Amino acid sequence: MKLIPCKHLDYEQHYDAELRTAEPDFPQVKYWHRTNVPYEGAVRNVQFCKKYGRVDGIFQCYTGELDCYEPVAEEEEK
Ligand SMILES: [Zn+2]
Repeated sequence: MKLIPCKHLDYEQHYDAELRTAEPDFPQVKYWHRTNVPYEGAVRNVQFCKKYGRVDGIFQCYTGELDCYEPVAEEEEK
């Protein structure tokens, strides 16, 4: 599985969430862990995409399965 982040992913704004990496398996993948969820059982590990909004999952914005997906240039990958 090739994991290249969507260039619209938002890691800058301050959400009510904590920025984490998917270590040890995918250390290059960053995601948000929501510390405050509206109800019991709500998805905690999400992505925020400037184009798509909140993505309920970690990898959709890295694998290209969403409509908003535009991979960052290879050299920006790190
Ligand atoms: Zn996206």
